[in-house]
Amino acid sequence: MSNTTENTFQAIISHAKEYGFVFPSSEIYDGLSAVYDYGPNGSELKKNIRDYWWKSMTQLHDNIVGIDAAIFMHPTTWKASGHVDNFSDPMIDNKDSQKRYRVDHLIEAKADQLREAGDNAGADAIITQMEQLLGADDFVGLKQLLTDNKIVCSVSGTGNWTEIRQFNLMFSTQLGSVAEESDTIYLRPETAQGIFVNFLNVQKTARMKIPFGIAQTGKAFRNEIVARQFIFRMREFEQMEMQFFVRPGTQMEWYNFWKEERMKWHMSLGLPADKFRFHNHVKLAHYADAALDIEFEFPFGFKELEGIHSRTDFDLKSHQEFSKKKQQYFDNDIDETTGKPFGNYIPYVVETSIGLDRMFLLILCNGYEEETITKEDGTTDSRTVLRIPAKIAPNKLAILPLVKKDGLPEIARQLMDDCKGSFKCFYEEKDAIGKRYRRQDAIGTPFCVTIDHQTKEDNMVTIRYRDSMKQERIALSEVKQLVLNAVS
Ligand code: ATP
Repeated sequence: MSNTTENTFQAIISHAKEYGFVFPSSEIYDGLSAVYDYGPNGSELKKNIRDYWWKSMTQLHDNIVGIDAAIFMHPTTWKASGHVDNFSDPMIDNKDSQKRYRVDHLIEAKADQLREAGDNAGADAIITQMEQLLGADDFVGLKQLLTDNKIVCSVSGTGNWTEIRQFNLMFSTQLGSVAEESDTIYLRPETAQGIFVNFLNVQKTARMKIPFGIAQTGKAFRNEIVARQFIFRMREFEQMEMQFFVRPGTQMEWYNFWKEERMKWHMSLGLPADKFRFHNHVKLAHYADAALDIEFEFPFGFKELEGIHSRTDFDLKSHQEFSKKKQQYFDNDIDETTGKPFGNYIPYVVETSIGLDRMFLLILCNGYEEETITKEDGTTDSRTVLRIPAKIAPNKLAILPLVKKDGLPEIARQLMDDCKGSFKCFYEEKDAIGKRYRRQDAIGTPFCVTIDHQTKEDNMVTIRYRDSMKQERIALSEVKQLVLNAVS
């Protein structure tokens, strides 16, 4: 990260705290590494992103239904899913500084350095080598790659490394209060398994026909080796996942469908297309036959925002094996090649999985701007603005009586009462109007309405648009509909 982008990123983190978006967890005790709390504006924004995703999945697709599964699951779930044996990252310690790293992060950082120095071919080469070595679990080769590329610890500056070891990312705890009763259970590292184990419950009770999807949002926990970059990599985070169950053999068609569909979702928020890209996986997870990431250009580079995975029948088949309960679906559609129903099979699955907190970070990073404004008299001023898409902004409308007397607050309160059932409004009568506008810019409120003395005469108000700062007079009676048009 260059110094300017590093400074901007630090400014975004401070802004997020100062304006009640994100606080370090248990801050009075100096925080807890990679755990964060969302404040009043943050929890609204987070909820709005979640709702927008939920609506696009379950309301706009009539073949997708939602569930809300528990965080704790029977421990065999994680044996069957492969997480007990495979959910680990290769880590390494520097013997001089005692600092621990994820090996892939060290190599990626080196590739970023090469890219910054203009050596794109060199950067691509070590990433390809790394992906091949990771795919073959070749830890000796990976360590050699570190040595060959003179990758050193940023603290000690040495390449005095331990051997590479695997580190399982699942948090475990004990169920039951009596020792004999106790059993190790895990905090789910992904929400997807809650969907798989409920596949038949949902299919039967909601009378779903393949192809259909099950959506879920909820907390997931990973004991990340190194937590970095604010809420990009957390130990407790939230996922929004959808598993789409399809007929075997049709998975690539659906994989491509969901790839496009998810990109359209991001574009529907008015986000800049050139900051998104697809990245195909070279190393496939044990369950996948195709996988890609949707990456976004964060201040620290293009990074994974969302995964689209073709998970085959791996999960359902494995749960069938471990639970001894059939996970089959009877497909009575006619197969044209045989003239008979497709019959019984274990469905294939295409998954879309996005981190809610990463999406939140995207909205902050993309929206944050320290803007210099040239005023009519030629002097300059500045403002910090969060250009949050109106649909998901914490407050949609700020209602501001110019002064707190002369009957203006009464008119403002009436507008508030009229609007607050439809969208979230913010009311404020303190301070100069310019100062109040700035505060709303800083928390991303798309519209401000000012009620002044003239309003009493002509029932007109001044509406101010956050992005252009343009102001115009409109009828008081039109305010609600104008905001509704922009946010729904
Ligand atoms: P990464 O390579 O960044 O560790 P991953 O490939 O392990 O991510 P997935 O298992 O595909 O991630 O999880 C799906 C989504 O969940 C990711 O695209 C990301 O948005 C989110 N996610 C995963 N791990 C974290 C985390 N530690 N903190 C915040 N979000 C996360």
